[in-house]
Amino acid sequence: HAAVADYVAHNPRSQTLCEVAAHVLPGGNTRSVLYHPPFPLTMVRGEGCWLWDADGHVYIDTLGEFTAGLFGHSDKTVRAALQEALVGGLNLSSHTAREARLGHEIQRRFPSMALMRFTNSGTEANLMAVAAATVHTGRRKVMVFDGAYHGGVLSFAGGGSPVNVPHDWLVAPYNDLEYAAALVRRHGADLAAILVEPMLGSGGCIPGTPAFLRGLRDLASDCNALLILDEVMTSRLSFGGRQALLDITPDLTTAGKYLGGGLSFGVFGGRADVMDRFDPRRSDALAHAGTFNNNVLSMAAGHAALSRVLTAEALDALNARGDHLRERLNALFAYEGVALQATGLGSLLTLHATDRPIRNAGDLAGSDLRVKDLLFFDLMARGIFLARRGMMALSLPLGEAECDCVLGAMLEIVELRQALL
Ligand code: PLP
Repeated sequence: HAAVADYVAHNPRSQTLCEVAAHVLPGGNTRSVLYHPPFPLTMVRGEGCWLWDADGHVYIDTLGEFTAGLFGHSDKTVRAALQEALVGGLNLSSHTAREARLGHEIQRRFPSMALMRFTNSGTEANLMAVAAATVHTGRRKVMVFDGAYHGGVLSFAGGGSPVNVPHDWLVAPYNDLEYAAALVRRHGADLAAILVEPMLGSGGCIPGTPAFLRGLRDLASDCNALLILDEVMTSRLSFGGRQALLDITPDLTTAGKYLGGGLSFGVFGGRADVMDRFDPRRSDALAHAGTFNNNVLSMAAGHAALSRVLTAEALDALNARGDHLRERLNALFAYEGVALQATGLGSLLTLHATDRPIRNAGDLAGSDLRVKDLLFFDLMARGIFLARRGMMALSLPLGEAECDCVLGAMLEIVELRQALL
């Protein structure tokens, strides 16, 4: 209560702006994930890995726009590409050479995407991938996992959401290959696809075990269903995403977030025989539309970011920084004897208020949400901006010095709050 009272006292402008916004947006909000009680901060400016809020506070941005902000807030190369593109006109009613250029950059990273199509978001990419799988196989059922998030209308936290698209979902526990195999034995003949995140991202940065993910590859092949890897978050874990790290070739991949250089973007792609169905020269071609699918700014920003900023070395260094931060946080929690842990892989982390092993959504039942909230408000009070759910997604400009600040803030909090942890 005291932490929340301090937050309210220190953020009067944010509170007022949220109240004003509530006159046109429900709860002052147009992205549910950004809301948290008593009200979220309103940001006015970002630069590198820093954020400034409406009340004049400055934060280290460890959230990185839920992974889309990989390049930080003002990468010079991306900015120059956007300025160059602006001069040439935004809506050209046509193809430009930009989309194929970006496509080649993405294919260089993900060779499993023999052919691909662009969308405006990761949500759309997953919708299209699932639709492609159902048409290709002529089947209706799609296996997904409890706690998974594939977009606003493809959310399986708590098993599902009333706004989800009405596919014939089979929801299985994550990291439970036996359960998935039993579902395949029962429904394999009707199964169009297995849609899976290589690590539950929004669901708490819970990595899929290599055996689980490779097992799903085999299960899908055995019943002629498609394996769709949703790498919207995990594509940043290596140059070729988590599929390269685990040597898994999916039938389809979906991605987005940072691949558009920080602008709206999504992509789905994979096996040529599946994606070929979108070839408009075919008499039976599948439709895939979207006014902004090839919007000039996303194409320009994405290409500049991938070809000139995000080298394999820069990405490896960023993931190493994330691994180092996670290890130091967990060492601190163990040393202080508190029931906290940081999960995740590479540059993606989530803080949880439990010291038990976490393999799936069910294991989070023991996590104390009040303790998570306390950590959130205490970190924010010390200038560390993160998601209320405890998620951090490091960005290229966020270096070891900023990681040290996160660790220093956490040490202070753990020592201050020892009795409550
Ligand atoms: N898939 C995963 C794994 C995600 O984490 C997200 C967004 O957080 C999405 C899909 C949806 O992407 P978008 O927000 O661009 O629609």
